[in-house]
Amino acid sequence: MRIVMLGAPGSGKGTQAKLLVEKYKLPQISTGDMLREAVSEGTPLGRQAKAAMDAGQLVSDEIVLSIIQERITRPDARKGFILDGFPRNLQQAEALDQLLTSLGRPLNLALLIAVDVDALIQRLVGRRTCLSCGQMYNVFYAPPHIEGRCDACGGRLRHRADDNEETIGNRLRVFETHTNPVIEYYQQQGKLRTVQGVGEIADIFRALTKIVDEVKPSARSESRTDTIRAAFAKHRATKARKEAAARQKMAAQTKAKSAKPATVKNKAAATEGEESKASHKKAVAKKAAVGKKVAAKKKVAPKKKLAAKKKLVAKKKVAPKKKVTQKKTVTTGNAKKKVSKKQHASKKVAPKKKAVPKKKAAVNKAKTAKKSVVKKKQAIARKTARKKR
Ligand code: AMP
Repeated sequence: MRIVMLGAPGSGKGTQAKLLVEKYKLPQISTGDMLREAVSEGTPLGRQAKAAMDAGQLVSDEIVLSIIQERITRPDARKGFILDGFPRNLQQAEALDQLLTSLGRPLNLALLIAVDVDALIQRLVGRRTCLSCGQMYNVFYAPPHIEGRCDACGGRLRHRADDNEETIGNRLRVFETHTNPVIEYYQQQGKLRTVQGVGEIADIFRALTKIVDEVKPSARSESRTDTIRAAFAKHRATKARKEAAARQKMAAQTKAKSAKPATVKNKAAATEGEESKASHKKAVAKKAAVGKKVAAKKKVAPKKKLAAKKKLVAKKKVAPKKKVTQKKTVTTGNAKKKVSKKQHASKKVAPKKKAVPKKKAAVNKAKTAKKSVVKKKQAIARKTARKKR
């Protein structure tokens, strides 16, 4: 739980904050306490803050924000905290929101303890605080048993230097002017809850714890969501950083390669342009190469086809010879192959000679001649017969 306690000086927010710290086991972060400590230790920061504190004015935002940032980022504040006396103006409230958002742990609740001005003055003027244990008393309506001594631990009671009438007046005016806008700020965010700060301390405390217990469950689930959201944001940021670095590297490489250095403004655009030009050129060259290949294929194709056809014809012509050769050839060497081819050639011519023997041819010739003579005689006879008729 991350809670801010709001209330005018003397409203009892410090007392209630201590009780809440005990109950919820959260650290109390009080800018007033831290500044007083710095003043009493005489640190440079304390010396700077002292004058403003003595006058009842606000210490500079720069100082207060630096101590708040350091305190909130300590490990014990991881589980939550109760802020007391901070923020005191709008700038501080906005700075706190930014810081908590960057840590992925936004504020859950702003608790206002409302007390009217007359009651506030009486409380502040009569307020006493134990220097040892911080127990608070009021000389008018909650005095210690022994004057100036703490009932709880016996420690010395202190009347704060700024709890005098003049400074109290200033502090109340500062609250009106600077801190009231902070109350409105949290109201607009829907985080403000108000408790009347009059009556018994225990009753006021009960009212406060009721509110805290109501907000706690949703604060827990919100916290889980915020943790996840913060993790994603971190991942996105890392990714973006890496991508930017890669782009820068590429741009630098392209710049180094190119003869014309691009201007810083157009660096990225120029690089992209060069890259696209180069890839375009490559694509054109590739296309041209493919085109040439296709053309070459087209030109060569008929020749190839012709050659293939010739081969086929030759094969067909040779085929029967080969068949015969293969049949006749004994598989033992080239000489035998040649012999078999010669044999085959002589066999091919032989049937022609065998077909017409010489004697038969002569007889046939004579027969044919006889037949033609007979035919001629017959024709002449026919002619003379026709003439006689
Ligand atoms: P407190 O104890 O909260 O009343 O604070 C005491 C004094 O410390 C104030 O009057 C301021 O001078 C200074 N102070 C404490 N908190 C702040 C703050 N958030 N911003 C500026 N000054 C502060």
